[in-house]
Amino acid sequence: MISKDTIDRILDAAQIVDVVSDFVALRRRGANYTACCPFHHEKTPSFSVSPAKGIYKCFGCGKAGNSVNFIMEHEHLGYVDALKYLGRKFGIEVQDKEETQAEAENRLRSESILAVTQFASDFYQKSLWETDQGISVGIGYFKERGFTNETIKKFSLGWAPGGRDSMSSAAQKAGYKKEYLVDSGLSVEREAGKDVVDRFYERVMFPIHSISGRVIAFGGRTLRSDKNIAKYINSPETEIYVKSKSLYGIFQAKSSIAKLQKCYLVEGYTDVISFHQAGVENVVASSGTSLTTEQIRLVKRFTPEVAVLYDGDPAGIKASLRGIDMLLEEGLRVKVVLFPDGEDPDSFARKKGPQALRKFLDESEEDFIAFKTRLLSDDTKKDPLKRAQLISEVVASISVIPDAISRAVYIEECSQRLNIAEEILSDEVKKLRKKKQYGAYGQTTESRSEPGMPKYFPPLETGEKIPEFITGTYCEPAEKELLYYLIRHGESNLYGTESQNDPTSPEAKVAISVSQFILNELQNDDLELQNLVYKKIFDEYYKIREKGQEYIQKYFINHPDPQIVQVILDILHQEHSLTVKIFVESVTPEEQMLPVVVPKSILIYKAKITAIAYQEICNKLADAEKSGDAQIQNELMEQVQILMHIRNSFSKELKRLTI
Ligand SMILES: [Zn+2]
Repeated sequence: MISKDTIDRILDAAQIVDVVSDFVALRRRGANYTACCPFHHEKTPSFSVSPAKGIYKCFGCGKAGNSVNFIMEHEHLGYVDALKYLGRKFGIEVQDKEETQAEAENRLRSESILAVTQFASDFYQKSLWETDQGISVGIGYFKERGFTNETIKKFSLGWAPGGRDSMSSAAQKAGYKKEYLVDSGLSVEREAGKDVVDRFYERVMFPIHSISGRVIAFGGRTLRSDKNIAKYINSPETEIYVKSKSLYGIFQAKSSIAKLQKCYLVEGYTDVISFHQAGVENVVASSGTSLTTEQIRLVKRFTPEVAVLYDGDPAGIKASLRGIDMLLEEGLRVKVVLFPDGEDPDSFARKKGPQALRKFLDESEEDFIAFKTRLLSDDTKKDPLKRAQLISEVVASISVIPDAISRAVYIEECSQRLNIAEEILSDEVKKLRKKKQYGAYGQTTESRSEPGMPKYFPPLETGEKIPEFITGTYCEPAEKELLYYLIRHGESNLYGTESQNDPTSPEAKVAISVSQFILNELQNDDLELQNLVYKKIFDEYYKIREKGQEYIQKYFINHPDPQIVQVILDILHQEHSLTVKIFVESVTPEEQMLPVVVPKSILIYKAKITAIAYQEICNKLADAEKSGDAQIQNELMEQVQILMHIRNSFSKELKRLTI
């Protein structure tokens, strides 16, 4: 256990702004700071930090707390480990003497793997600086690349010695368990039960840091020219290292990215380090893999602008264009810098030096859409088929940009560049966006005009069907409100008295009872009441409804189930407390308001469960982002989009129905 005194000292030292700004670029707004929330996906900032109160709060996903809560949430640590983390950061020694050997072993596995990985990083650095081979081969190589001692240390570069098990046996001697060495991916068990060997040997080592600066994996480069040896090998994915969520250099770059509001995206470790060496620090590498949404969001926490750096290989560039659409889709501004033939970012930075590099970056930067248009139109000068292909490629990129104004600006620009009427481009963009938005849940407008489904007044115009994944969502007050109309007015006609007075009017022929209307509406969306007592009442109601309202009420009042009796009495004695009723003038008899209030209560019911489901899915999405499961994230994002869309049509419809 950590003493109360130590906890207090940590809480005093760990000022919320210092803690949060390790992970998020905060902007001052008055007395507080704001940022895009690190716990859920958002495009406009709703995450707020109050230095005075020492708390953070997200108005989007509702996450809130103090410095310790932030670290627990963000780094997936328990309370004690979060305190230790903050203790380390703020130089407060955390004495945790009562922890036994067994407890130490039982501590979070990921903590153990992190510890092994940190040990390995220290070991590789020591081997680099303190062994003959490290100095001659390792440091020799880094110097050849122009890295200074300072740069080598800044990136914790190292040397994995030969000998096949140097690191593994040193780690075991230092007390690290074989199990965690294997789990960290740094040691390999060739045969079950036998001694482990090193994954990395005779390689220069590039540790990969998490955003908070902990070593989570390595890339190792061989310096041999033997073709049978892979030039680079990397740590496998582990509990602490998820490739799709890591960016090489993000820890060293984040403050510069936030300050300069731009992030350069390069390919390899040495590109990143050479840029630092040349004084350009706002740079990260995706380490060979194609860019993922998680990596993009990582960058987006610090800046809305990314510049992708290419060496001059056209085939390579074309292959990566798709990946760039993902950047646009996340709402980033995307620029491109194309290096001259035969140069890559690393070689250019080394050859030309800091000033020339910065000048080149500033002057060669081109907007991505313009770049793509130019790149593709070089191939397509006179070939109409290829030209059509080019136009659809460019339109595809524009259509994923979330911001409507940016889209309009690009459409105008490309219309001039490609010499095509603006309307044609904007129609194409609209078509693509529509396809994307609605494609997920298909055509929905027909569902309301099924045969045998009577028309009623006022019709719901949302045209939206409740998606299957939220039909189990529960909202007690809204369910009770439906029962209210069922029990009190279920067998009344949903029409006002007017059409009943005039039996020849066309509306009279399609009259519908309140109970039938409610049943249709719920069945239409596969909705069932979730409260079990309400559901029982609901189901029994439809068995006896032809006996008339008076009989029905008596039946339920004398029901053998006391819970049912209670609900029915509540409903029969309830006055003016319902959400819809407050819109109704008390002087108007309720009966006359049914054509408005019943559809409205249905709509409120559906809108409420949509809102609840929306919040739940947002929470799940925040969790999924933490766990890094891309597939689940994509599914949830799709659901969020569907629900946002439905929510909007519901609120439009509700406004229309407001009395
Ligand atoms: Zn949030």
